[in-house]
Amino acid sequence: MPESNHHVEVILPLSVPGTFTYIVPTSYSSEALIGKRVVVSFGTGRRLYTGIVISYQTKLPAYDLKELLDVIDDEPSVNEKVFNFWKWISTYYMCFPGEVMNTALPGTMNLSSESRFVLNTNKEISRLALNEKENLIIDALERKKELKLKELNQLTSLKNSLSLMKQLVDKEIVSVFESFQAKYLPKKRPRIKLNIELLDLVKIEQVRHSLLKAPAQLKLLYSFLEHLDFVDELPVNKFIPKDVLLKSANVGPAALNALIKKGILSVDYIEESRINTGFSETNDLPRLQNFQKKCLDEIRQQHTERDVVLLHGVTSSGKTEIYSHLIEGVVESGQQVLYLLPEIALTSQIINRLRKYFGNRVAVYHSGLNANERTEIWKRISNKSENEIKIVLGARSAIFLPFNNIGLIIVDEEHDRSFKQQDPAPRYEARDTAVVLAGIHKAKVLLGSATPSLESFENALSGKYGFSELTERFGGIEMPEIQVVDIGEEYRKKRMKYSFSTLLYKEMSEKLERGEQIIIFQNRRGYAPLIICNSCSQSPVCVNCDVALTYHKGIQSLICHYCGYKIGMTINCKSCGKGTYTDMGKGTERIEEELKKLFPDAALSRFDFDSTRKKNAFQNLIDKFERGEIDILIGTQMVTKGLDFENVGLVGIINADNLLRFPDFRSFERTFQMLTQVAGRAGRKNKRGKVIIQTFDPIHPVIGFVTNSDYKGFVNKELEERLTFKYPPFYRIIEVRLKHSDRQKLNNASIIFGKTLKGIFREQLLGPEFNYIERIRNLYSMHFILKVSKKSSISNVKNKLAETIADFNSNDTFKSIKVQIDVDPY
Ligand code: ADP
Ligand code: ZN
Repeated sequence: MPESNHHVEVILPLSVPGTFTYIVPTSYSSEALIGKRVVVSFGTGRRLYTGIVISYQTKLPAYDLKELLDVIDDEPSVNEKVFNFWKWISTYYMCFPGEVMNTALPGTMNLSSESRFVLNTNKEISRLALNEKENLIIDALERKKELKLKELNQLTSLKNSLSLMKQLVDKEIVSVFESFQAKYLPKKRPRIKLNIELLDLVKIEQVRHSLLKAPAQLKLLYSFLEHLDFVDELPVNKFIPKDVLLKSANVGPAALNALIKKGILSVDYIEESRINTGFSETNDLPRLQNFQKKCLDEIRQQHTERDVVLLHGVTSSGKTEIYSHLIEGVVESGQQVLYLLPEIALTSQIINRLRKYFGNRVAVYHSGLNANERTEIWKRISNKSENEIKIVLGARSAIFLPFNNIGLIIVDEEHDRSFKQQDPAPRYEARDTAVVLAGIHKAKVLLGSATPSLESFENALSGKYGFSELTERFGGIEMPEIQVVDIGEEYRKKRMKYSFSTLLYKEMSEKLERGEQIIIFQNRRGYAPLIICNSCSQSPVCVNCDVALTYHKGIQSLICHYCGYKIGMTINCKSCGKGTYTDMGKGTERIEEELKKLFPDAALSRFDFDSTRKKNAFQNLIDKFERGEIDILIGTQMVTKGLDFENVGLVGIINADNLLRFPDFRSFERTFQMLTQVAGRAGRKNKRGKVIIQTFDPIHPVIGFVTNSDYKGFVNKELEERLTFKYPPFYRIIEVRLKHSDRQKLNNASIIFGKTLKGIFREQLLGPEFNYIERIRNLYSMHFILKVSKKSSISNVKNKLAETIADFNSNDTFKSIKVQIDVDPY
């Protein structure tokens, strides 16, 4: 027992600074231990929250302390390593501890308060003043004392009594009673056993006799006995799953219930996994080719000297196979492995491969799982049992699982921007955070990519990270042949067929004839990103955001890609009512329409956010493509990520320019990565593939580096630019965003705030400036950029910044302005 837990320090899942002290009632003093979840009330009113005890407190604050109300856990939910990790995140990314807790814990562990209704006993009720429905409700509450909404609806046969209940609460006739209830329900499976006293052939015979008039029950008993094993002619009692028994006896549940009532059989429930996969058999790992073996040895060697190694392996070089060999070694030594992927839905292929090798020891963790599945994984990772999960394949949120002993963290496609959480806080970068997590566990990290981020590559150059390379593809296949087409010239010579140059069209026809598959890349969804009235020149724009609406032809709608606002398409202009609309620009839907005209016999499918929204749609498309049922796949960047197809002869990029022109210092890096990754989908497995890039700017250096598969050339040039213009990886960036619904108010506040900041940070500060898109979801947004040299102390800067923001926030004039901090923004 701790020396002094009369008071505890508790983290609450709220966006407020700091942690809070509570008094531990003596009845809880042996239970309120560090890491356990507790129920406390916070603020005015009866709001209850689940918090976590992080320490015992002896220095008491000046405010009036409340008692904690309950202790939820028998065993701590969170261990010390996890706390240290949370602390690092909240310090580094400048957010509140409660925000980290909120992101880290699965929803079911942040208990829910379910509203229950009770009659307010302090109030005289005049029944005559109430209508018939209200009286019905009060009758029910008088009988049952306490009821949930659903129960009320059932008892009173009212369809939906919610608004009625609200009125009754307002009249103070009914009050709401908050009660906590853990939402996680383990999945229980019933199983049947013979009454132990009957485990005797003579007694069984008596039972059999007694059942002669109940054939169904007898049949069930026989069936049960058939499932038993016999040792020395004596039956050995055992549990038989209820569904199995009923099925093999082919009788209804009534017969079973009768036998249970008579005390012949009994039932109990066991917890069953929601996530077991049925892959209990495992295959051997594939044998590595020599160049892969050499790389594996090199990584192992480097890991003896450095904690992090960067693996630069060209597409299709067998990085995944190398990971598998590393994983095997770590798992055999009894440690856990965390395998991070940018977007889990995109990588079902990798999951299947790993399950083949590691069976049920692999679990998948991502936001698409339901709350119960997530909680089960959470539990199976933290307890060291037979059932323990050894390998977690997960999206960025998997770094928050309560691992007890990580040996290796793999970050695959480490350059991918979806490792960064944009909103809400903590705005963490999972790759960088994983390196810290590994440090806490004294584990090793492997970052892998065909196009490593400049940050990681620079860390390798400077010797901070180890480095290893795979420059060949598996099976000796050549890198794809990449050709660039100047579509400016094609348009001038009027040789374009819709969006397709002569060369792309010709190559497509040839590949189709030979039965090879084609991927067409266009990084815009919808039909037309912009439509313009040919009479008044107006374009329909979003009511909530400063952007044009995208035309989606299939559903005849105009949609905002920032807030989801949607209106129907009209034939005549929405502004002048006279003109009609002309489509500007091309999204995947329009490219698909053009392809239908150009290749009417080919099987086409579109692969983007819109076409994969339904559950399983994504997987179905990939499966169909793998089976060869699709000739041409038209996709957004979704097609660039980690897919491994066998028969893609050609990849066509409709227009590389809009990637390059994006106003952001990373746009060249992103373009290089994206083009190289799409190109990598061509010609895998048995032969060299072809890639055609269409552009108005064929001599752009980035296009040249992509064409020559020259990663190092690209990186060296880009690093020079970054150094000259003071950008990462040589400078750190902190972005401070201010948001408000009133543009003028925001602008004034930003100018005043800017003066204070400038006084402190001088030339390190840029801004304020309106965002590229000024207004999103009705909030105007301005930002400042702080550029801090790697050589100066970043924690100093952060402390000063936090102080300044706290001052600003405490000023009444600026209270309504939302301030967000983004450390290492993307
Ligand atoms: P990367 O992750 O580098 O793109 P993969 O690991 O996906 O490469 O490998 C590309 C393809 O080659 C996969 O289908 C994989 O199964 C196959 N492959 C790679 N290495 C081997 C090996 N040593 N033995 C058998 N197949 C391999
Ligand atoms: Zn909008």
